Amino acid sequence: MTAAVLDCDRCPRLREHCRDIARKKRASYRSQKYHGLPVPNFGDPAAQLLIAGLAPAAHGANRTGRMFTGDRSGDWLYRAMHRAGFANQPTATSRDDGLQLHNAMITAAVHCAPPANKPTTQEIANCAPWLDHTVDLLPNLRVVICLGRLGFDAIMRLYKTRGWFHGPRSAYPFAHGAEHPIANAPTVICSYHPSQQNTFTGRLTEPMLDSVFQRAQQIIESH
Ligand code: SF4
Repeated sequence: MTAAVLDCDRCPRLREHCRDIARKKRASYRSQKYHGLPVPNFGDPAAQLLIAGLAPAAHGANRTGRMFTGDRSGDWLYRAMHRAGFANQPTATSRDDGLQLHNAMITAAVHCAPPANKPTTQEIANCAPWLDHTVDLLPNLRVVICLGRLGFDAIMRLYKTRGWFHGPRSAYPFAHGAEHPIANAPTVICSYHPSQQNTFTGRLTEPMLDSVFQRAQQIIESH
């Protein structure tokens, strides 16, 4: 799947945006070669936990080529994953920094960095087959942590398409820590996204993020 995602060009606007950022670069990364392509999933193919984010950050994953690597959101995410035992180290700076995930895979609703972090409805739909394929490739999956509402919406659309739940979507609200056990499907846990917008304002704290990963670990261990 990695090679196919890297080659995907279903969203011309996003592909051009990624290339454009890679050409212009941020001044502090001037000497680095940007990835500038779709960012594949990262993690353990035997994972019981899937983490679904929104999209690569322009100067984070779009620069380094690995999910949540090289930006402040990733700093928060990987510290929490390390504390919960899902990562071998708390830092993520580049693809060759030695980071390994245990029992966890990270994906995103869209694999290309969008302008202003806002993919269009059509672009999210274009990328949905990759999310579907990601779930197919995780036979041990037990829990999905959705980072932010867009990641949650993408997961719930997939669940609906697969017939994993029936009835109104409103029965599954988004709130930090909200847990949605669904029969014969991986349990969904919602989390605020560890974006600076949330972490700088105190809307999301490290204990709040830890509680989500601790709950995921409990569910995994109960199986
Ligand atoms: S966002 Fe997804 S569907 Fe669109 S070009 Fe990137 S990888 Fe392909």
